[in-house]
Amino acid sequence: MRLDDSLGRPLRDLRISVTDRCNFRCDYCMPREHFDSKYEFLPKDKIISYEEVILVIKSALPLGLKKIRITGGEPLIRKDISKLIKMIRDLDDELDIAMTTNGVLLRRNIDSLKKSGLDRVTVSLDSIDDELFKEITDSNYNVSDVLDGIQSAIDSGLEVKINSVIKRNLNENQLIPLVEKSIQYNVPIRFIEFMDVGSTNSWNLNSVITGAEMRKVIQRKFGPLVQKNPNYYGEVAKQWTILDKEYDFGFIESISSPFCGSCTRARISSNGHLFTCLFSEKGHDLLSMMRMDAEEEDIANAITKIWNNRNDKYSEGRKGNHKDRIPVEMSYIGG
Ligand code: SAM
Ligand code: SF4
Ligand code: SF4
Repeated sequence: MRLDDSLGRPLRDLRISVTDRCNFRCDYCMPREHFDSKYEFLPKDKIISYEEVILVIKSALPLGLKKIRITGGEPLIRKDISKLIKMIRDLDDELDIAMTTNGVLLRRNIDSLKKSGLDRVTVSLDSIDDELFKEITDSNYNVSDVLDGIQSAIDSGLEVKINSVIKRNLNENQLIPLVEKSIQYNVPIRFIEFMDVGSTNSWNLNSVITGAEMRKVIQRKFGPLVQKNPNYYGEVAKQWTILDKEYDFGFIESISSPFCGSCTRARISSNGHLFTCLFSEKGHDLLSMMRMDAEEEDIANAITKIWNNRNDKYSEGRKGNHKDRIPVEMSYIGG
């Protein structure tokens, strides 16, 4: 079955944030001045359980769901995360199961993740310079911890990608080293424009380096770039090739080139609310429904109604939208 929203976009992907906590405090996502020791993270009983995640997925599968992405916060700090992957895999052999992680706990988890049926992993890395990495992540981890995680994922046979947020006056000098590193590891990198998610990251347009600006810098070093066709409908990253290196990589240009028209993604926040847009201010409380004994059919009906009514296209009308809104935090809803 295909479930369309009010703008004709099918429900295909579900991103599930399994925790609102993280072992990093990235400047653009969980700045420490907000996410400090006084910040009230969700108490354990308000976090969606694995059984509840499974009930949501089971309900959405007959509606056309094809892909699951486990994210956070940092998904690898949630206890027994491989158990959840295995529970999802047991629902459906064909489902594409991916995870987005900051990578520092990847090596120690990789065997169980692979065994449990994970297909793909996206590792975030914004700098290969240790000092800058520590500054951006506000953590004591090293770049080598992430690279180690990437290598272990490659060795295990998972499909691997790298995500890099590039922000003006922060890490634009990392564009070339990051491309070089990704070529060395033979994994595609996707450069992400700094987005106005949440309300704590002091976003402003001047801090955004657009995909086009990034390509100019990359082209100067590596020679001509050529744009490729998308690999599938709704692909978020625009695909490009460095001709001389035959290297494919991408840009996620939510600010300069929004892709709402083909957005097939729903999100479950760590407290079990369904969000139909990354920039929503409010979700739909599936957790309470489940805790009042809602069954698969009830959840499927609720998702159907919510998706049918969906008309989100925040990024396409971003100008002027920003003020007076309090969108949900990225760490809570998942990237
Ligand atoms: N902790 C994991 C990680 O960092 O990969 C998963 C969650 S994180 C919220 C998911 C993705 O969102 C990461 O690739 C991160 O770089 C990206 N992200 C977070 N805040 C962002 C922002 N303000 N603009 C663009 N991307 C952002
Ligand atoms: Fe944590 Fe990921 Fe956000 Fe960085 S981007 S603070 S690693 S959730
Ligand atoms: Fe999808 Fe909302 Fe992002 Fe547009 S702004 S691509 S609707 S998540």
